[in-house]
Amino acid sequence: MRKKIVAGNWKMNTSCPEGVELAKAVVAKSTEVPANVGLIIAPPFTHLCCVSEITEGSKVELSAQNCADHTSGAFTGEVAAPMLTSVGCQWTILGHSERRQYYGETDEKLVVKTKLALEAGLGVILCVGENLDEREAGKHFEVCENQIKNVLYNFTAEDMKKIVVAYEPVWAIGTGKTATAEQAEEIHAHIRKVLADKFGAQVADDTTILYGGSCKPSNAKELFAQPDIDGGLIGGAALKADDFIQIALSF
Ligand code: PEP
Repeated sequence: MRKKIVAGNWKMNTSCPEGVELAKAVVAKSTEVPANVGLIIAPPFTHLCCVSEITEGSKVELSAQNCADHTSGAFTGEVAAPMLTSVGCQWTILGHSERRQYYGETDEKLVVKTKLALEAGLGVILCVGENLDEREAGKHFEVCENQIKNVLYNFTAEDMKKIVVAYEPVWAIGTGKTATAEQAEEIHAHIRKVLADKFGAQVADDTTILYGGSCKPSNAKELFAQPDIDGGLIGGAALKADDFIQIALSF
């Protein structure tokens, strides 16, 4: 049975003290969330060390929002996967559309980053998704399929146990425009088929596939009711503990 997960991507928001307060509120409310729903929060790098002291021993797991494509050395400004595990991180998000769009993250780089993250013992939340032009041109299935193939086809069925996929249509991120449950479900089902083609039906069936893009308490229930939507990667609504937990209670 694949795991249901709700993960909060805080992006470049909150000061460290604010982040600590938010994490405390999420941990306090996390006891309301059923055991079969995993909770992950992804604060900025600067907060990870402090926030890990708060999440430790709770059901809330800690994620980074990115990691470097090298393990150490002269790479000013970068943060390596082993550094993340050294402060208590269990996960990293990789390939978020904002990284792809503003920081030149390519599928080739994501192969390297995913490999290093797994080697360091991190789980990976790999984001895929089409932009508005691609959706309007009817290329959304193809774009997501290629992103999955370009990155995940370089890994093994064993590696897939530590990998979660997040389908995030770029036109729905931070825009208030959510994909309809049907639009999201058809891509999720397609992603699962693309995974099955390479890794077999069992691995595909066991892989958690999250939806991301203006997911909030008011629409989470309908999205999570879809057979291939196993939870959400939440941006804006993850900055309010009440909303984030409400979403996690929407299964
Ligand atoms: C995200 O950035 O991963 C995201 C889904 O953002 P939002 O929920 O704000 O659309």
